[in-house]
Amino acid sequence: MNFKDYITIVPDWPKPGITFKDISTLMDNGDAYRAATDEIVKYANDKQVDIIVGPEARGFIVGCPVAYALGIGFAPVRKEGKLPREVIKVDYGLEYGKDVLTIHKDAIKPGQRVLITDDLLATGGTIEATIKLVEELGGIVVGAAFLIELSYLDGRDKLDGYDVFTLMTY
Ligand code: IMP
Repeated sequence: MNFKDYITIVPDWPKPGITFKDISTLMDNGDAYRAATDEIVKYANDKQVDIIVGPEARGFIVGCPVAYALGIGFAPVRKEGKLPREVIKVDYGLEYGKDVLTIHKDAIKPGQRVLITDDLLATGGTIEATIKLVEELGGIVVGAAFLIELSYLDGRDKLDGYDVFTLMTY
């Protein structure tokens, strides 16, 4: 399947100069969504993954069906103030300013093998922050899987030493 056929390119969104890759037209097609999920499941299969971790919100869309297929759990990473119990936090850089990501303190047990998922790897800041949270809890990041990589933003450089899987590259 040519997965790029299901991605909609939206020029100048959310602001002028940004070319947004919209995955909603992949998700709303049952065959494409399942085939994309299957590719990540295949990637994860020999990694003995214990749990999947994904940042809100599109990391859930990618990660949850993979967790279901593998018969393992999913732990959400969310913006500050969204998770109801005790969390750990990390600051991460955005294009303008800073934001905070959090995870429940008991979401990952030390030594658990973690696969991180998100829809898109751009500068890598979001995933770098997610890795920090997982490792602070004692998790072992065995891979990071994305539908899309924007290779011109060099996000992979931030993930040096980690195993990275992407389905499509722009
Ligand atoms: P990064 O932290 O710079 O790697 O940005 C990745 C995050 O921004 C991911 O969580 C994406 O959901 C979001 N993102 C950035 N650009 C796009 C895009 O073109 N399409 C969809 N999501 C995007």
